[in-house]
Formats: sequence, structure tokens, C-alpha cells
Amino acid sequence: MSGPVIQGWCPGAHRPMAAADGLVVRMRPALGQITPAQARGIADLALRFGTGLIELTSRANLQLRGVADHAGLMLALDGLGLIDADPAFEARRNITLTPFRAAGGREEQIAAALEQALRDPGLASLPGKFGFVVDTGAVRRLAATSGDIRLEAAGGDLVVRADGSDTGMAVASISDAVEAAVALARWFLGSGGVGADGRGRMARHLASTPLPEALKGAAQPNAPEVPARPGFHDGLALFAAPFGQMAAQDLRALADTAPESLRVTPWRMLALPGLRHMPALPEGHELIVSPDDPRLRVLACTGAPGCPQASVETRQLAARLAPYLPDGELLHVSGCAKGCAHPARATVTLVGRAGKFDLIRDGAPWGSPDQTGLAPETLTDMIR
Ligand code: SF4
Repeated sequence: MSGPVIQGWCPGAHRPMAAADGLVVRMRPALGQITPAQARGIADLALRFGTGLIELTSRANLQLRGVADHAGLMLALDGLGLIDADPAFEARRNITLTPFRAAGGREEQIAAALEQALRDPGLASLPGKFGFVVDTGAVRRLAATSGDIRLEAAGGDLVVRADGSDTGMAVASISDAVEAAVALARWFLGSGGVGADGRGRMARHLASTPLPEALKGAAQPNAPEVPARPGFHDGLALFAAPFGQMAAQDLRALADTAPESLRVTPWRMLALPGLRHMPALPEGHELIVSPDDPRLRVLACTGAPGCPQASVETRQLAARLAPYLPDGELLHVSGCAKGCAHPARATVTLVGRAGKFDLIRDGAPWGSPDQTGLAPETLTDMIR
């Protein structure tokens, strides 16, 4: 059996990825947010050009699937102000901001300055998955979010830290923070962080190449916080997309409810600032609004028919199994052993293979299965 194919790059708007159901087109909204008008526009484009679903990614991006008319979609996205004219710049504009921030505050100022700095063609060879995390609050909300250079805080002071290093450089100002982040990126490029295949991540690089003391710093960042859950927390109304997918009408409902720009989170949730409590949405919506929703105990990747590596459907099965999973357990339904939705252990992992499922208890998708060749209709009994 051949193993899963590792792509090593992420789709973008200019560089869509071909999937079994058409092109996957990813948008990286500037400052990690979209206006209500842009949200309504994306909902319309999902229906016009895609499957009618909008996907939320773990890098706080949005993507449409099933796209056939890429040129038409690009024109429409350009009209909404959602793409950059420069494809190379857009590809390296991987900045994830904490949604727990003040509008126009320190995080957004850092991200805006960093975006400008990343226009430097000298940084063009940064790998497609190389990213920056801006998380400068009193607790680190994005500690578990993928990133290579982290702009954080120690107490109230700014710290710039290479992912994989315990400590970072204390800096005095936003411009110093951006300068330090660019210095780390240049060191990564200059010290062989990018392999011959164009890939590379900071933490992996540090495992073999020590960071110079001047870039390592001695500042300990603030303590991490567990990722946010759906519901109203610290001034944000958080709505989760079941299994990372949101119907166009649900995005439109959020846009109609949002008093200001919607923030895209890396937790497959949209956050609405400017409200005092969780707003009511139209009846029939499918969004997750409560931390107790059983769908939060289940993770599922794209599966068939969207992913060419899958021989099984995943998301409908995940929705069917969710109510049977005991509280406190985690089920991962993975179309193949790559484990895109959750490359880690789960209480139960179902891995698609040749139209059936292998079952792994307390392991990762690539682990040794406890049972093999299970038909989807038999799985309810297996997990409860
Ligand atoms: S884990 Fe799922 S989405 Fe990822 S390659 Fe396998 S089938 Fe496709």
C-alpha cells in the first residue's frame, strides 16, 4: 500500500490546489479579519463558484472547494479586496493573530508592519508553510497554533521568539519586534533552514542548528492558555464550523449579526467582537455555539469525494458518530493515514483504507490498527 502524499505547500488564491472535486482556493484575509460585506461576498462566491461551503483552516484562513472557474473567482475576490496582486507576496503573508485583541491595537499594528516587511523580495524563499504568530496578550492563546516565528509578550513587554526555543528576544517597540522577526527569518534562510525541496520549519531546523545567542534572547513568554471554545468569552462571540466547514447561509447570518469585522481564528471558529453576549442566529443554522456540542468531540478531514487520497466519506460519518462518543473522549475520522485534521493521538482514530476503516485506540492515524476492514455502518457499536 502506498502512503499518503505529503504536499509540503498550502493552496493560495493565486496557486489553487487540485482536488478530486475541483480546485481548492484559499484566502488569507489581511489582519485575519473580514468585514461583514466581505463575508457576505464570500458566501455568495461559495455558492456561485464552489460547493456552497466555506472551510476554516488551522492557519486562520478561509477556503472554497470545488472551484472550476478560477479566473472568474479571482476577479470576484479582487473586487472584494481579498487578494494581493503579487502572488509571491501573498504566499508568504502567513500571519496568524490572536482574535482576543483590541481593534487597531498592538497586535494589529504589529501584523500590519510585519506584512509590509514581508514584501521584501529577500524573503521570497521562505517556505510556503513558514508562518508568523502574533499573540501578545497576558496569556498565550495561540501556543498550540502552528508558526515559526512568534511575537508574544513577557508581562506587558514584547518578545520575539523562534518556534522551538523556550526563550525569545525582549524588544522595546513594535518596529523593533518586526525587525527582530525579520532577523530571525533571515537567519533561518541563511543557516540552511530551507531544504532542497523548498520546505523547512523553524523548530525542526533548531533541532540540528543552534540559534545564535543574540537571536535566542532570555525572555520567557507569558503562560499558555488552552484554545478557546465556542460561546461568549472575553468580549468575543465564537462560532465554530462543524468539522471546519460552514454553509454559505450560515456565514451570511454571521455577517448580518456582526457589528464590526469578523475575526478568523485558527480554531476553525469565527469570532465576532463588539457584542455583549452570544447573539441568536436564524433557526436551522448548523454552527456550533456551545462548548458542550458533541460535534466538538470529533475531528474529520475532507475525505472523499473532495480529497483524491481518500476512499471513504468522513464528515457525514463523523456527524453520525458524534452523539455516541462518551464525554471527554476524542474521535478522529481520517480519510487516510496522513491525518490532516489531527496529526496526533485520539481516543479512537478511524482511518479509511480501500473503502473501509481501520480502528486505532489511543493512537495516531499512522499507528498500528487494533481492528481493520470495518464497514462504516458497523462503527456506531465500535465506539460507544
Ligand atoms: S487525511 Fe484526509 S484530507 Fe488528508 S490526505 Fe488523507 S484523506 Fe485527504
